[in-house]
Amino acid sequence: MTKNFPHIPERIAGLGELAYNLWWSWNPVARMLFKTLDRQAWKECVHNPVRMLKEIPTEILESAADNSHYLKQYDRTMTEFNHYMGVDNCWFTENITGSACLPVAYFSAEYGLHHSLPFYAGGLGFLAGDHIKECSDLGIPLVAIGFMYPEGYFRQRIRIDGWQESVNETLDRDVTPITRVSDQEGEQLVVKIPFTDPPIHVALWTVDVGRVTLYLMDTDIEINVPRHRTISSQLYVGDVEHRLLQELVLGIGGSEVLRAVGIDDYLLHLNEGHTSFALLERVRTQMEKGMSYDDAVQYSRKTSIFTTHTPVPAGIDVFPLSLIDKYFSSYYSLLGVGRESFFRLGLHPGNPSAGFNMAVLALSLTAHHNGVSKKHGEVARQMWQPLWPQIKEQDVPIDYITNGVHVPTWLEPKMEILLNKHLSPGWKQRHDSPDVWKAVDDIPNRDLWQVYMWMKTKLVNKVRELARKKWVKEEAEPLKVISGGTLLDPLTLTIGFARRFATYKRAYLIFSDLERLKRIVNNRWRPIQIIFAGKAHPADDEGKRVLQQVFTAACDPSLGGHIAFIENYDEQLAQYLVHGVDVWLNNPVPPMEASGTSGMKAALNGVPQLSILDGWWMEGYNGKNGWAFEGSGSDTVDAESIYNLLEHDVIPLYYNQDEDGVPHGWVKLMKESIKSAGAAFSARRMVKEYALKFYKSALKEV
Ligand SMILES: *Cc1c(COP(=O)(O)O)cnc(C)c1O
Repeated sequence: MTKNFPHIPERIAGLGELAYNLWWSWNPVARMLFKTLDRQAWKECVHNPVRMLKEIPTEILESAADNSHYLKQYDRTMTEFNHYMGVDNCWFTENITGSACLPVAYFSAEYGLHHSLPFYAGGLGFLAGDHIKECSDLGIPLVAIGFMYPEGYFRQRIRIDGWQESVNETLDRDVTPITRVSDQEGEQLVVKIPFTDPPIHVALWTVDVGRVTLYLMDTDIEINVPRHRTISSQLYVGDVEHRLLQELVLGIGGSEVLRAVGIDDYLLHLNEGHTSFALLERVRTQMEKGMSYDDAVQYSRKTSIFTTHTPVPAGIDVFPLSLIDKYFSSYYSLLGVGRESFFRLGLHPGNPSAGFNMAVLALSLTAHHNGVSKKHGEVARQMWQPLWPQIKEQDVPIDYITNGVHVPTWLEPKMEILLNKHLSPGWKQRHDSPDVWKAVDDIPNRDLWQVYMWMKTKLVNKVRELARKKWVKEEAEPLKVISGGTLLDPLTLTIGFARRFATYKRAYLIFSDLERLKRIVNNRWRPIQIIFAGKAHPADDEGKRVLQQVFTAACDPSLGGHIAFIENYDEQLAQYLVHGVDVWLNNPVPPMEASGTSGMKAALNGVPQLSILDGWWMEGYNGKNGWAFEGSGSDTVDAESIYNLLEHDVIPLYYNQDEDGVPHGWVKLMKESIKSAGAAFSARRMVKEYALKFYKSALKEV
């Protein structure tokens, strides 16, 4: 148990195991166990218990092992952990299978699990991370496949002129909660990807996510030729051939990995089209077992699920046929189909000359497909209608399952303590039942407001501390200290806008009428402030220009220090922001936001939305839990909608505070927010839908 930590005393050796299972990250009792060991060290290791345990002096561990109070806390947590890991009567077997069954193999190019594992770029990754955490909670037998990107996505640094630079850092594998998978000789298990020449190999790592194992592939090993070593170095970079190689490794390599670790039969769940090549291996292996091509295709279809997140054709990978020839020609004969028939699996009938389309491949070889919100389901049916020319658009077989967020991960612990006082016992186990949340109305306004003010203060303190650190350590220019949020005020109405700086998300929108915005933010009695964070894709100069515009505004004295841009948006910063701002702003160009999930995280914590009607908000908005406006097709008009709502509704309601300092009308809004999001937009509701709609019927076919 103490494999990596020889200096942990036997009495508390379980800490080592706990550090390597992300269960700790969504259980406040476990987090406290690390934090109370040494608060300063906990902070300095940026809440990474593996790093902390490696670096902490032995005396501290010894004195903890000798402290009866600590030991009580330790024993309680370990009992809870061991119980969680051991439970076998679970929702899944009770409701879906009645007995043991095949695992679901979940493939995704990114996973957002914790900031110590930088294997994500944005929402797609967090959706995957929350999905597998929830499968663990519900006892759904699932094994996940992804990449160990040693350079992660990238670290963002903003130049003083506002231009984004990428700083590449290499992950220190020794202080990251990942574990080498060993072969029988104790060497790291290396898997050779079939039909590649020169052969591509991947080394394997695992991440323990509760009861779910996530296998991560790493191509940076000596046996690979140099250009193959970099295949997995970074997320979403490189030219089209590099992308193809990544997706080949993900789909074909991932399938081989499952075989290598002894998982031969499984349902397949593909998270977006980057993973679609896995379907080729699914068909091929069934043929190897004796099925005809047609039967193997039918088998693959009935037992595989494809979730699409993209509302526009441009968001999907399409590869030139010359590259498909280069890397997949052996498959033509392996599948017993000619080159043309193989291509047809991935050609869009409306635009066959574009190339091999990864979503078309997935839609061809799966029977269960879904978009990620009600609206996105409609958009996807329209978008993919050409694949079903004989069927009316509304009957196109693409369903929807609206995204949700993992409640234990995204609910702030102090908020959880407050809910524990007022919701019925065991509410957390039943949090996807809307009834559970009704008792939120019983929370005294003052108590909710107090917890909320604490979270907001925590956010403002964090932002200022980050700015101070830059000032001290990096001798940052004063402008960066100001734009980093030094002048923020915890008593001012605070708007949060944090997400990838993809242009369709329109981070600049609120600056459309600068003079009007200045009047709003600088109002002497009722000012507002806005906190921005997010990364532009390194190859997206348009996105970087938007970011530069926002940064410039944050440096503009005439906006009074009320605008802040926080560098390097990641999971940790997201936690602070979705807990601590007053309003979550979202203004993409409809229907480009297939779902959006950061708003759900905010709503769960009592942060109302000010959002355009798109994605999840079309289902989430109920007239009582925030504000909504229609997209007009014009930036100017959409910006006016925001200004009008701010001036007439949001700001007056917020500053209408009683003598006791509590804005009762606002607190009511917060409660509506929590009640409407807690169950409906939980990953538990979502995963149960996947299980009941798809996993269950797929299981009948194997
Ligand atoms: C939840 C989350 C996202 C997703 O944001 P949306 O744009 O709302 O989908 C992106 N990044 C981080 C760090 C997140 O936590």
